[in-house]
Amino acid sequence: MNNLDPKTLWSQAVDKLRAEIGEDADLWLRPVEAVRLDDQVLFLKVPNKFFSDGIKDRFQKRLVFIFKDLTGLDIGIDYEVCLDLKKRLPVSDPIPDPGPQSEFPLSSFNPRYTFASFVVGKSNRLAFATAEAISKNPGTQYNPFFLYGGVGLGKTHLLHAIGNALRQNFPRSRVLYTTAEEFVNDYINSIHHRKTDDFRAKYRNLDCMLIDDIQFLIAKEQSEQEFFHTFNSLFDSRKQIIITSDRVPKEMTPHERRLISRLEWGLVADITPPDLETRIAILRKKSELEQFYVPDDVILFVASTVKSNIRLLEGSLIKLKSFAALTGTSLSVDEAKDILKAYLPHDVSSPVQIETIQRLVSHKYSLDVKDLKGQQRTASIALPRQLAMYLASVMTDLSSTDIGRAFGGRDHTTVLHARKKIQKMLDDDPFFLELVNKLQSDIKSVEN
Ligand code: ADP
Ligand code: MG
Repeated sequence: MNNLDPKTLWSQAVDKLRAEIGEDADLWLRPVEAVRLDDQVLFLKVPNKFFSDGIKDRFQKRLVFIFKDLTGLDIGIDYEVCLDLKKRLPVSDPIPDPGPQSEFPLSSFNPRYTFASFVVGKSNRLAFATAEAISKNPGTQYNPFFLYGGVGLGKTHLLHAIGNALRQNFPRSRVLYTTAEEFVNDYINSIHHRKTDDFRAKYRNLDCMLIDDIQFLIAKEQSEQEFFHTFNSLFDSRKQIIITSDRVPKEMTPHERRLISRLEWGLVADITPPDLETRIAILRKKSELEQFYVPDDVILFVASTVKSNIRLLEGSLIKLKSFAALTGTSLSVDEAKDILKAYLPHDVSSPVQIETIQRLVSHKYSLDVKDLKGQQRTASIALPRQLAMYLASVMTDLSSTDIGRAFGGRDHTTVLHARKKIQKMLDDDPFFLELVNKLQSDIKSVEN
């Protein structure tokens, strides 16, 4: 090829790639247009960031290789996002007709999970406000909406609250709540029964898709791809999409980060564990709903004991209620303590002290606690130090900033790094895992 024309180069490359990979490539490549060739870089116009990311991940290496094969030159690729192209999407990937509205499978939402029953505090204010705004005006300002937060902090509750409110505000709207796990199963079934058209008709004709626990999609290649096409199709027709994940971005593996970074360009909000005041308010509200009187000092006791999971906070209350129903008397703090001792997992009922961790880890490695806090970086000290940081982050309520501080004023990123590194070692090395399990149970038994 002497006089390089970007369009010719692109169409020849795509032909080659299609011959190698088949139809899969089409979904990604058909909406793409080659615009110019500048300084050995081919500029591609794509409808949105998903396409550039998707092509990068899947085909870029191969394409560069093919360019070299065709031209003898090292030609790179760059992307330009151009919204005009989105009109071409339905052509490449037709959406089947949804059929009469009445046939549409409607989600049922948990009537207990409403905005009114959700207690708002500092830890969830942005998430709550956004969810409420969306339920009044879906598909406009906050789309997609991505909600992060640890387990038991109210993500599913908020999704159902949005669903309940949408159903009320827009009775004819097609709103679907699904978990990523159900999505995957549904997709696999549809392939199995040769009903992928029905599958697409179901998911791509929604007005609002609420998808819970997206982390489940990680490493499920084919379903992930189908999900992105669903996502694109909905997004391009300005339908509302809301996604939750229980992974905090900082703690994600590269694979998780890649999956999630493609979804993150709308509004992102996180829910963090509630502060004491909010925990008290939640207990009050739940005891009202349960019509169960709990004395203030018992509420305070429970709220100060269960800190990082609202489901456990709720469970504790139910536990106390069933006990009180048996005895018919009102509870004292001591009784509550006794009842909950058996119910709560150890690390929730009495968080482990970071000093205990430091002491036992340094003992195990014949070091001094001073060494863990010191600056020396030899491997024989660095590993135990990282292990101690890891244990502190999984066994205590402390933030990475606090943990860093307890290890001679280190930065929180050092703690996160330690956590990742140890996690990887635990995944790879069963002997190390054994050692760490043993250490953990030693630490717990010292605390008791
Ligand atoms: P997640 O999906 O984040 O794991 P859930 O939404 O299932 O958590 O919440 C766990 C339980 O805690 C649910 O019963 C929910 O109603 C309750 N809950 C969570 N956050 C709140 C809140 N802010 N106010 C009232 N109840 C809450
Ligand atoms: Mg949930």
